[in-house]
Amino acid sequence: MALLLGCIADDFTGATDLAALLARSGLPVSLRIGTPPEKRDRNETAAFEVIALKCRTSPVDIAVKQARQALDWLKEAGANRFFWKYCSTFDSTAEGNIGPVAEMLMAETGAAQTIYCPAFPENGRRVFMGHLFVGEQPLSESPMKDHPLTPMRDSSLVRLLTPQVAGAVGLANRDVVSRGPAALKTRLDQLKGDGIQHVIVDAVCDDDLRTIAAASFDMPLLTGGSAIAGQLPRSYMEHELAGLSQHRQAVPKVAGGSIVLSGSCSAMTRRQVANYAGKVASLRLDPIALAEEGAGTALEWLRQQSPDAPKLIYATAEPHEVRQAQERLGRDKAGRIVEDALSEIARTAFDCGTRRFVVAGGETSGAITQALGVTHLAIGPEIAPGVPWTFAAIGEETVALALKSGNFGEETFFTDAFGRLGAT
Ligand code: ADP
Repeated sequence: MALLLGCIADDFTGATDLAALLARSGLPVSLRIGTPPEKRDRNETAAFEVIALKCRTSPVDIAVKQARQALDWLKEAGANRFFWKYCSTFDSTAEGNIGPVAEMLMAETGAAQTIYCPAFPENGRRVFMGHLFVGEQPLSESPMKDHPLTPMRDSSLVRLLTPQVAGAVGLANRDVVSRGPAALKTRLDQLKGDGIQHVIVDAVCDDDLRTIAAASFDMPLLTGGSAIAGQLPRSYMEHELAGLSQHRQAVPKVAGGSIVLSGSCSAMTRRQVANYAGKVASLRLDPIALAEEGAGTALEWLRQQSPDAPKLIYATAEPHEVRQAQERLGRDKAGRIVEDALSEIARTAFDCGTRRFVVAGGETSGAITQALGVTHLAIGPEIAPGVPWTFAAIGEETVALALKSGNFGEETFFTDAFGRLGAT
């Protein structure tokens, strides 16, 4: 079907989150990990195409170059509307890359003005009078102030964006947004008349997002978090760009064994692993043993399990255990050893007939998809907010993959996931 929106995301789990919200519309959504090297036949594109980059903290010139390649691919695939997706906490370094990429995309798409809407009210991210709040805290007082890569020390989006762009930055505040799409459109036009190309838009609830989606319908480029993008399918349907019923996404039947692979040590994942370990055959990986002996024992254990029985292999550990492993091996090496082992285990599981994979951990998901040679995912049903089942081809086989970053999902996420797929 026609490609309605081409999306570029600045990291992988952000892309998955975006894809999941777009897929709530029932329209086909496809996620590509990196810009595909080959140009695609237009008939193969989904209604929503998402390209996941890994450029949030890259040097500006590299981020801009990668985004330009993604844009060229999306244009070639038939897109004429575009979305630049970043985190709902506006994660960026002092130089960018939110602004510089947006400015390049504006120039390349002929956009005279664009909006910046990171708000995600369902997850407690709200923008009021141009200031971003995480729950009840201003961004600069939230845990994001101590982020190791992108510490956010200011809550004013106008102040954060201004040094990142050459054009002028302005605000469409909640007073205007609460008055509905026509008032907001008038305000955007007025700002455009004043030479304001970059407009921060306040949003504190989903109604605000609907207003913003309606008012910005004519813009070739929108930027923001996944929540505003999640409102776009409805807006397209209202404008009759998409017929919902004709194009409902079919969920493929995936037969074959199932496995949970967890390399995340985040608090929620630890609870999820504890919950699931009591229910299915499970094996714990110890990074120090892996460093000394390799993954042979785990592979042997895996081969001895019935291919169809659900199973869990995890390196998930308590903070003091992670610290111990990191002190012995070094932080990067400990991480790499676990990622390599889980990658080898995933390949062996596939060879043994496993076709349904749940993976916990953002970095771990990246490593495992790469090991399985997966670069293109079709988005299926959502398991938890922001975490969908995805489907990919490996050779002639279809596999189902649920890729969950650390703190997503409820305690019963692993059971929920297989339940959602119609399997146990
Ligand atoms: P999350 O999404 O929770 O941040 P990630 O997969 O992105 O999870 O990151 C977790 C990192 O911790 C990975 O690099 C993983 O290999 C590493 N890791 C997992 N288990 C251990 C462990 N027991 N000791 C040290 N590092 C670990």
